[in-house]
Amino acid sequence: MLLTITNSQTPANDLSYLLHKHPNRLQSFSTSFGQVHLFYPESSSEVCTVALLMDVDPIGLIRSGHRGISSNFALEQYVNDRPYAVSSFMSVSIAKVIGSALSGKCKDKPELVSKPLQLTAKLPVLPCRGGEGFLRGLFEPLEYQVEASRLALDEKFPEWGQSNYFSVSLSRHCPLQELLTHLYVLIPVLDNDKHYWVSEDEVQKLLRHGEGWLEEHPQKEAIAFRYLKHQRRLTKLAMSELVDADEVEAAPLEVWDAQEEEVEKSISLNERRYEAVLEAVQAVASQTIVDLGCGEGKLVKGLLKIKSLEKILGTDVSIRSLEIAAERLRLDDLPERVRRKVELMQSSLMYRDKRISGFDVACVVEVIEHLDVPRLAAFERVVFEFAQPKRVIVTTPNSEYNVKFANLPAGKFRHKDHRFEWTRKEFQNWGSEIAARYNYSVEFSTVGPVDKVVGSPTQMGVFDHED
Ligand code: SAH
Repeated sequence: MLLTITNSQTPANDLSYLLHKHPNRLQSFSTSFGQVHLFYPESSSEVCTVALLMDVDPIGLIRSGHRGISSNFALEQYVNDRPYAVSSFMSVSIAKVIGSALSGKCKDKPELVSKPLQLTAKLPVLPCRGGEGFLRGLFEPLEYQVEASRLALDEKFPEWGQSNYFSVSLSRHCPLQELLTHLYVLIPVLDNDKHYWVSEDEVQKLLRHGEGWLEEHPQKEAIAFRYLKHQRRLTKLAMSELVDADEVEAAPLEVWDAQEEEVEKSISLNERRYEAVLEAVQAVASQTIVDLGCGEGKLVKGLLKIKSLEKILGTDVSIRSLEIAAERLRLDDLPERVRRKVELMQSSLMYRDKRISGFDVACVVEVIEHLDVPRLAAFERVVFEFAQPKRVIVTTPNSEYNVKFANLPAGKFRHKDHRFEWTRKEFQNWGSEIAARYNYSVEFSTVGPVDKVVGSPTQMGVFDHED
């Protein structure tokens, strides 16, 4: 993992004074995750470059408990991007190896600390979860000139498409301390995966390093949310320090979540999808509704506003999602009359479940693509044969539209848990076949902006039981 910083303002080797590191020496430091080497590939009065090269030890990481199994890839502990990609380990190294420059101390030439230099930081392999747009959104408001080129997954196999990693160069005329502070905070934000657990101390750290720039940053919520490892409570705490109390109240948690729905966010697809589903719910007279695979309860929140509904059930296989849904819906704060209508329960769409039968309407929003294809048949019987709601509303991505998302590498799904994404023809064939098999009629429609060639980003099928 490599980071270089170049100063091209004469006398350029001022950089070495600020770093407290002699330009003619290679120095190495041990950390719990490997060795950090600091050296100067070039040093003259015109150009001076310092390199921080980290030799991450993947086995050492596991032994020191830095990295648990975070994906469903069993060998992830041993085979991962940490040795190559610039990540929170780099932030830790900056603090450890050139900490005095980060905190703005320079014994020999204190006047250099606040002196603007002509600086360029190069990060040859930088993970950018959220794509180039997010990267630019972080650095351009801070007046950096950003150059970024996306790296191929494997140059030998161009058909595999692009990776989430970029080769990035950031240039700005500013004091070194400012550049280091921005890198220190924003590298883990881009990587979106800190190697250590964060607690309240981390909020103080963010506020300390964010002083003078974070309050005004247009992406401050996203920065805080990711820096604090998606912990809403800590993010709220940080935000309450960063903005006026009124503004915090006005910024709902959904805003921070929406930051995560990066692929689709450019067209606010999420909101449009819920609107389309709510419309299809209201198009028929219904009193009872079940949201199958309700996730964090966003649709349930919209359903609560439909007065005619007397019973709203949200189900999901994930207990964690249901917990978040309960928290998000603030069930305990609802008036008793509304509270009584809502229920959340764990249930898998792979197994017949009496508790989901007899409903007027069932919604299955962005769920089928999370099911393994061979298990779709079980889902179809559970919903259409046994639960048999009068109306079933199904939405799923239209894979033809994926070419329109600039930040989605070719051939990739929109979400890493998706098992498939269907074209319009594939979805309509599937829908028509199950409608015929289980005695339903079906109508297909679009959600989101419609492109003449590739159609809309989301496709919807509304199935009505033919009684
Ligand atoms: N419908 C929600 C969430 C979509 S994400 C929304 O639009 O906001 C897909 C959801 O399907 C996840 O919450 C996941 O836990 C759930 N899911 C996946 N497999 C499932 C299964 N077999 N049974 C029930 N829910 C499942």
